[in-house]
Amino acid sequence: MMPTRLTIFAVLLGTASLAMAKADKPNLVIVLTDDQGYADVGFNGCTDIPTPNIDRIAAEGVRFSDGYVSFPVCGPSRAGLLTGRYQDRFGFTTNPTIDPANPEAGIPLDEKNMAEVLKPAGYSSAIIGKWHMGSHEVHHPLNRGFDHFFGFLSGGHNYFPSEYTINDLSEVTGQWEWYRTRLVKDYERVDVEGDYLTDILTDAAVAFVDAKAADDRPFMLYLAYNAPHTPLQSTEKYLSRFDHIEDSKRRTYAAMVSCVDDGVGRVMDALRRHGLEEDTLVFFLSDNGGASNNASDNGILNKGKGSLFEGGVRVPFAMQWKGTVPPGQVYAHPVISLDIMGTITALAGVRAAEEKPLDGVNLMPYLTGQDSGVPHEQLFWRKFTHDGISIRQGNLKLVADGKRKQNGYKLFDLSEDIPEKKDLFAKEPEKARRLIEQCDTWNTELKATIFPTLMEDTWWER
Ligand code: CA
Repeated sequence: MMPTRLTIFAVLLGTASLAMAKADKPNLVIVLTDDQGYADVGFNGCTDIPTPNIDRIAAEGVRFSDGYVSFPVCGPSRAGLLTGRYQDRFGFTTNPTIDPANPEAGIPLDEKNMAEVLKPAGYSSAIIGKWHMGSHEVHHPLNRGFDHFFGFLSGGHNYFPSEYTINDLSEVTGQWEWYRTRLVKDYERVDVEGDYLTDILTDAAVAFVDAKAADDRPFMLYLAYNAPHTPLQSTEKYLSRFDHIEDSKRRTYAAMVSCVDDGVGRVMDALRRHGLEEDTLVFFLSDNGGASNNASDNGILNKGKGSLFEGGVRVPFAMQWKGTVPPGQVYAHPVISLDIMGTITALAGVRAAEEKPLDGVNLMPYLTGQDSGVPHEQLFWRKFTHDGISIRQGNLKLVADGKRKQNGYKLFDLSEDIPEKKDLFAKEPEKARRLIEQCDTWNTELKATIFPTLMEDTWWER
């Protein structure tokens, strides 16, 4: 039967009101990569690994030249991103143990993560990929605000499903065996279709967008690829794109990044196919700087993963919100992963608990030109277990990468010294003193570590 004019009108009206409802509270997609170097995306000058899909996010939105994460390794960085608060405020100072019997190892239950905060605003949330925010059931994503989980609880994973020979964390008998556990869908261990984890995660992300496109609720997708974290594993499909790279580690790394880029392209295609681009903020970033063991490249930045120098905490970082954020911007004032929470809570109209204020801010006024000021007067970092601390204020950066009482601090002016080579500490004692004071004051607001660290715990020997 041909539709009458009335039914067509009703369909159009339905679509329009749906679109308006969604625009009120935009969807959020966060694509987080793992240990990807600052210079390993086209928009930061990468030449040997094409990343056209990731670059398109920056081209159609904003490239953050000075985009930071709140910690130079996986776990604490993700705890900051997911809460919008410096994770040391609640003692998440190091990579947590994977011990499934430890209820302390995770984001404390009185701290709210993004999914928990967005739930009352009507959001449906998914985490696809790496969780690493606790393996005890109290920290399971579905018990922490998420509606969907597909991936793995631990801090890393092998890429070939043929290697997933361990059913569950309870069967682990040695360190790193959790890299070979079967994947989890919601609460169940499942076998998966496909031969390569990164593609499998992309499949799940596209399926989520497809499923949510018809829903009248806004959604949040946290797509946490573990690529290009070690183990360096790829398939011929991606390796064959990089025959020109002789170094076999770099070649495999390039293949892994290229697969992520394909995945980003497929997720963005899904948003476009459903007409959701103007209703969806998309963030792309890495959880910390490139690591020394995965052949990543941080460009001119000093050091990498694990360090409070720029190479550890300044990451490839871009966002787009088509129709709202003007395209083609390079935003040079410092921003931090915590701002994703600051932005989405402001847009969704939800407030953080008064006693636990966000450190992240709403970036929208800065990206739309309403506010010509800076999002942050200063940013801080702390490496509690190494007695390291750092602050960036304007272009000045003070760093004690570890053992600050013995080794002291270094001071750099990033406006002329991005590689942090010219230490100004002795030349500018007054500036250094003021920054040290600020670090000390901030430090008094922070807690000590609340759980055993990943590298030292031996829970499987119990
Ligand atoms: Ca990482």
